[in-house]
Amino acid sequence: MSIEIPPLMTGSEPLVVAMDGPSGTGKSSVSRRLATRLGARYLDTGAMYRVATLRALRGGVDLSDPVAIAVSVKDLPLTIGTDPSHEVIELDGEDVSDEIRGDAVTKAVSAVSAVGDVRDQLVALQREIAASAGRIVVEGRDIGTVVLPGADAKIYLTASAQARAYRRNQQNISEGRGDDYEAVLADVQRRDNLDSTRAVSPLRPASDAVLVDTSDLTRDQVIDELYQVVAQCISSGDRRGLR
Ligand code: C5P
Repeated sequence: MSIEIPPLMTGSEPLVVAMDGPSGTGKSSVSRRLATRLGARYLDTGAMYRVATLRALRGGVDLSDPVAIAVSVKDLPLTIGTDPSHEVIELDGEDVSDEIRGDAVTKAVSAVSAVGDVRDQLVALQREIAASAGRIVVEGRDIGTVVLPGADAKIYLTASAQARAYRRNQQNISEGRGDDYEAVLADVQRRDNLDSTRAVSPLRPASDAVLVDTSDLTRDQVIDELYQVVAQCISSGDRRGLR
């Protein structure tokens, strides 16, 4: 089936796409590529929570103490770029793009992202960045539900825990981080559980999000599907705009 591509898909007018879903669905790489195809900016909100976590870890904070976490992350000196082809992530002027993907941060991030004050600070920043970019794909867990409920298109990417663990393990192997599928699967399930059961902004699809299951799709097929979904959301005349 082919649908007519609305002009908004290739223009420069404001367009906000919310991309949510659990880890390991290929969300980051497809969001980045979708942004490029739409001529839009790209924001990785997971990276922002990771920078906050690095700050807390460097401050030697007790991760079971939400007040101490909130204090250490207050006025976070974070710089995050929105160019989909060039990642910029800095903590106090230092490039931390590699360090935030390491094991220590990955293990601790759920504790930090569950703290209400941390979320309030980062959500405000995410809204500011989206508003000033105008045309942007924003990727995270609560974008369609909390951060940008008025997004023009809301997509929720899913995949089985096994498919997600397999992909993450392959990525670890290719980046020299070792090969341990069982451990990766356990970590994927642990984080899914923490993220979907937390009291503040739990991971769940917005009621008006389009679900896309990537388990059996190649990356190119996912991009094509997402592009069609965005086109359909726009042509349905249901543009909600940034609110
Ligand atoms: O997407 P990524 O795996 O980098 O996200 C890291 C963590 O940040 C998630 O496990 C989740 O705890 C948190 N997160 C969040 N809300 C977002 C994005 C990420 O709570 N919008």
